[in-house]
Amino acid sequence: MSSLTIRNLRKSFGAVEVLKGINIEARTGEFIALVGPSGCGKSTLLAMIAGLESVSEGEIRIGDRLVNSVAPKDRDIAMVFQSYALYPTMTVRENITFGMESRGVPKPQRDEAVKRVAALLQIEPLLKRKPGQLSGGQRQRVAMGRALVRDPKLFLFDEPLSNLDAKLRVDMRTEIKKLHHRVGKTTVYVTHDQVEAMTLASRIAVMHQGQVQQFDEPQVVYDRPANMFVAGFMGSPA
Ligand code: ADP
Ligand code: MG
Repeated sequence: MSSLTIRNLRKSFGAVEVLKGINIEARTGEFIALVGPSGCGKSTLLAMIAGLESVSEGEIRIGDRLVNSVAPKDRDIAMVFQSYALYPTMTVRENITFGMESRGVPKPQRDEAVKRVAALLQIEPLLKRKPGQLSGGQRQRVAMGRALVRDPKLFLFDEPLSNLDAKLRVDMRTEIKKLHHRVGKTTVYVTHDQVEAMTLASRIAVMHQGQVQQFDEPQVVYDRPANMFVAGFMGSPA
């Protein structure tokens, strides 16, 4: 069963078409990566899945539901960005529960959810701190906690690790992989880093100039690139 289906999706900003007929699907629980050079349309595609950008043409389905005109808050998704905008004056616990509070989830349920997520991400000791007292990696974990606590159908990541230094990036990559194994959520992960995509995803969509050049398992994309662009971008042997 597919939990995300994108058909012939197009997006124009004014006269400029930046997505030119995208077709991708993710099976339930699958981790897919969107890779490609800066400007190829990855963030625009993710924002459209999230409902933050309108659809010019085509279809986006989450589960069986056509969501083209569904408001972001009603799409049952959670998104983590590279600039993990935590509220600086709130504690980690408050940052994680903020959305639940505004939706009127009762306190016992909120506490239970925080406990579950904090244990998963190993951030129990940080719950009383403020974002200013956290390292980059810890902040990124809290941002993931805020997404996880909502128990969404779909996880969207837009280059979540690109602000971290190289060593931490590799550590967090491992964390995200473990987390996905444990939680098993359908995930769409945007990165310009081929190695990150190869390590994390069960299938990779390689994008270039608003089109998907190839959508396949990492090893297939690497060993049998569909064209010269994919070969060059993925660093496949000549
Ligand atoms: P990526 O995330 O792969 O770097 P983006 O999706 O951010 O690429 O951008 C794809 C193209 O769309 C770029 O040429 C960018 O300049 C353009 N673009 C993105 N958002 C807008 C916008 N709001 N208005 C006009 N052009 C945009
Ligand atoms: Mg981007």
